[in-house]
Amino acid sequence: MSPFSYQCQKTCSCTQARAGIFQTPHGPVETPRFMPVGTLANIKTVTPAQIQQTGAQMILANTYHLHLQPGEQIVHRAGGLHRFMGWEGPILTDSGGFQVFSLSQLREITDEGVTFQSPRNGDLIHLTPEKSIEIQNALGADVIMAFDECPPYPASQTEITAAVHRTTAWLKRCVQAHQRPDQALFGIVQGGIYPPLRQISAQALVDLDLPGYAIGGVSVGEPPDLIEKIVQATTPLLPQNKPRYLMGVGTYREMAQAIAAGVDLFDCVIPTRLARHANALVQGDRWNLKNRKFREDFQPLDASCPCYTCQTFTRAYLSHLVRSRELLGYTLLSIHNITELVRFTQRIRAAILADRFAQEFQSWLQPLSSKVSSSQTPR
Ligand SMILES: [Zn+2]
Repeated sequence: MSPFSYQCQKTCSCTQARAGIFQTPHGPVETPRFMPVGTLANIKTVTPAQIQQTGAQMILANTYHLHLQPGEQIVHRAGGLHRFMGWEGPILTDSGGFQVFSLSQLREITDEGVTFQSPRNGDLIHLTPEKSIEIQNALGADVIMAFDECPPYPASQTEITAAVHRTTAWLKRCVQAHQRPDQALFGIVQGGIYPPLRQISAQALVDLDLPGYAIGGVSVGEPPDLIEKIVQATTPLLPQNKPRYLMGVGTYREMAQAIAAGVDLFDCVIPTRLARHANALVQGDRWNLKNRKFREDFQPLDASCPCYTCQTFTRAYLSHLVRSRELLGYTLLSIHNITELVRFTQRIRAAILADRFAQEFQSWLQPLSSKVSSSQTPR
């Protein structure tokens, strides 16, 4: 019997939104849910105990980065990723594909795999579907991702078609290579901005009856309204009884709209990256704590927020910390920003369960308004 299951608890009567529970060997994930990213087996400047307080249930780590440092064998010998990083809840690792295609000095892509230059020491590294799964099996996350080709935006229909076929062939090799029944291998729908290609990709995945499905190839530089269209075209192609994960998306509007289309899980580096740029996410807006007006503002960041930062400190103190480049400032803003995005998805979940989602979140479900879009995240 698989330790993984997805149970839908309630569907929205106005949209495709759903609330459910995804069971993993390290506990349940109540969906919809935002997942913070801990690239190098840590969520930058925040301890696991602090992460737990944010309400996050499942977190991410990056295969590509962990393969380069410290190497999956060290993590494996430490007892696996959960023990190594001190996080007892569910973990998801990506396949490394996205980083290879977006970050590294790519040398060659063939049907066999990709060859790239290590940014650490210049060594040539060969990554294949089998190798990605071998690394992820050694890391030991609850959910592991298929190795896919993720072309940047814009890419031609010909390029995307080739990527879809290669991704499907690679997925079959990932399924063959996967060794651990205590890890769920999710497939990734590619197809760029072309609905017919999304359909071909999704059908090939669904035929393999995987424990979960991801929508990939979004948030790679396309305009936000296209993300919504891609998601709306893709989710109806995925089975009802499996979790759906939209990769790399974590702004308020994009999450609300994707949830309305039937997506369950999200990840994004936005909350911690914004924190390192002195930015706080507050009830749908983005504030720069370096702004003068916060220097003598003795209110909490958000009086309605239950996080440690808002319960303990003032905007003036946070402003002082980020102006002084104190590390505690990054920690406190990360705690708040993660809490804020997790709470946003928790509030949506509660609204779906009460069948009030479409009414309560109407302002987020309409086309872009004057609300701040946090898509333009500083790098
Ligand atoms: Zn807070």
